[in-house]
Amino acid sequence: MSESFDVVVIGGGPAGYPAAIRAAQNGLKAACVDEWRNTDGSHAFGGTCLNAGCIPSKALLESTELLHRARHEFAVHGIKTDAVSVDLAAMQKRRATIVKTMTGGILALFKASGVVAVQGHGRLLAGNQVEVTADDGSKRLLAAKDVVLASGSTPVRLASVPHDGKSIVDSWNALEFDAVPKRLGIIGAGVIGLELGSVWRRLGSEVTMLEALDQFLPMADGAVAKEAQRHFKKLGLDIRLGAKVARANVTGGAVDLVYSSASGEQTLQVDKLVVAVGRRPFTEGLFAPETGLALDERGCIRVDEHCRTGVAHIWAVGDVVRGPMLAHKGKEEGLMVADLIAGRYGEVNYKVIPSVIYTAPEIAWVGQTEEQVKAGGRPYKVGSFPFAASGRARAMEASAGFAKIVAAADDDEILGVHVIGPMAGELIAEAVLAMEYAASTEDLQRTIHAHPTLSEAIHEAALAADKRAIDSINR
Ligand code: FAD
Ligand code: NAD
Repeated sequence: MSESFDVVVIGGGPAGYPAAIRAAQNGLKAACVDEWRNTDGSHAFGGTCLNAGCIPSKALLESTELLHRARHEFAVHGIKTDAVSVDLAAMQKRRATIVKTMTGGILALFKASGVVAVQGHGRLLAGNQVEVTADDGSKRLLAAKDVVLASGSTPVRLASVPHDGKSIVDSWNALEFDAVPKRLGIIGAGVIGLELGSVWRRLGSEVTMLEALDQFLPMADGAVAKEAQRHFKKLGLDIRLGAKVARANVTGGAVDLVYSSASGEQTLQVDKLVVAVGRRPFTEGLFAPETGLALDERGCIRVDEHCRTGVAHIWAVGDVVRGPMLAHKGKEEGLMVADLIAGRYGEVNYKVIPSVIYTAPEIAWVGQTEEQVKAGGRPYKVGSFPFAASGRARAMEASAGFAKIVAAADDDEILGVHVIGPMAGELIAEAVLAMEYAASTEDLQRTIHAHPTLSEAIHEAALAADKRAIDSINR
C-alpha cells in the first residue's frame, strides 16, 4: 500500500526543503525524503549546505577572521590584548552547534507548514512512485502527482590522489579537523580551496595550494582576481598555478605529492591534503531506468529552463542540474517548481545570480565580468571606487579592495557589478536588485545611500562610470 501525496521531494538540501515548504504553502500535500547522515551517525535535513558546506564553513570563517583581526588589527584601534590564543575544540563546538540549530530548524519549519519529513533513501520508480528505504532496510512506498529530484552533489575525487578520510580528505573532513595541521596542502584554488585555506591559515597552518590552471580565479573579473591574489599572498597562502598533480601517497602520517609545473617535476610534503577540485551531481540509486530520465555529459539530470525533466510531472532542481552549484540558485529553482506545480507563475532569472567568496577581503559579483563584456563586443564603460576612499571602510580598518560597475555605453544598462572588500556579499544585494529591475547606472547614481556606509562605494562606482565620482579621482 502506498501513501499518497501531491508532491514528493527527494533531497532535503537548500533546493529540496524550500520546494517542499512552498508546495505546502500552495495548499499541496508534500513530503520531503532525505538520507543525509552526519559523522556521528545522526540524520539531519539541510543537505550539504547546512551540514557540510555553506553554514559550517562560514562559522569557521567568522571565528578565524575575528582571531586574525584580534592578532593583527586590534592594536591599530588602540586595543591592547595579551597574546590571543585559540581553543579549537570550543571553536568547533560552536560550528557544530550552529549546524545542529539550523538543521533542527528545518524540521520545525516542516512541522509548521505541514510537510511530512521522511528519513531514508528515496528512489523514483516508474509511475511517480517513490520507494523509501530506511536504515533498517524497511521500505515505504509514496505515490505522488509530482516528484521533485533535489539530490545535490558530491565532491569530485582524483584517482591519483586516493581519499582516506584522514590524511587525504574532502572539504567536509577539512571542516571538522580537531587539530591545526602544521602543513596543509589543498588541490584546487577555487572557492572551497580559498575559503578553507583562509580558515586554516589564520589558525596557523602553512597552506600550499596547487591549482591546475595558469589563471587565478578565472570566473571572477580580472581586476578583482588580481587584487584578491595580492591579498591572499599577504595572508600567507602559497598558491601555485599551473600545478598538475601526478600522485599523492600517505607515508607515516605525511602526504607526499608529486606534481608538475612550468619549472618541471616538483614534490611537496604536507600533513593533511584537501582535494577541492569541484563537485559533481549526485544521482546514485536515485531513479529506476524505466522512469526514462536522462543525464547529460556532465552527469546532471537534463532539465529545461523551468526545471522540467521531459518526463511528465518529474522535476529536478539544485546542484543535480545544470548551472552554478550555489545554494541560493537551488532555492530559487525549488520555489519556482513548487509554484509551477501549483499552477502559479514561476521563473528563475539565471542572468542575475550572485556569487560570493567569503574570504577577507570578501569577493562578490553579479552579471558579466569586464572581460566577458569586452569579448561580447558591446561598447561599455567602467566605474570603480576604492574602499580606501570610503569613510566607513576606514573606520572599520577594512579599506582594501574596490567596487566596480560595468555598464553599456549606449543605454547605460548595468551589465556586471564586482566587489572585493568588506561585506562584499551583503553589498552585492543592491546590485542584484538593480539588475533584476533592469536599472541603469543613472538609477544607482540618483538613489540616496546613507552616509557613512559601505554601500556608498556602489553609489560612487556608478557615478564613476560617467566620470562624475565625488569622493575619488575620476580616471
Ligand atoms: P545538497 O545540499 O547536496 O542536498 C541534497 C540532499 O539530498 C542531501 O541531504 C542528500 O543526502 C540528499 N539525497 C541525495 N540523494 C538522495 C536520495 N536518493 N534519497 C534521499 N536523500 C537523498 N553555496 C552557496 O551558495 N554559498 C556558500 O557559501 C557555499 N559554501 C559551500 C561550502 C562548502 C564547503 C561546500 C561543499 C559547498 C558550499 N556551497 C555554497 C554549495 C552548496 O552547498 C550547494 O550548492 C547546495 O548545498 C546545493 O543544494 P542542493 O539542495 O541541490 O543539494
Ligand atoms: P571550484 O570549481 O570553485 O574550484 C575547483 C578548482 O580546482 C578550480 O580552480 C579548478 O581549476 C581546480 N582543479 C580542478 N582539477 C584540478 C586538478 N586535478 N589539480 C589541481 N586543480 C584542479 O570548485 P570547489 O572549490 O571544489 O567548489 C565546488 C562547488 O561548491 C563550486 O561550484 C562552488 O560554487 C560551490 N561553493 C560555493 C561557495 C560559495 O558560494 N561561497 C563556497 C564553497 C563552494
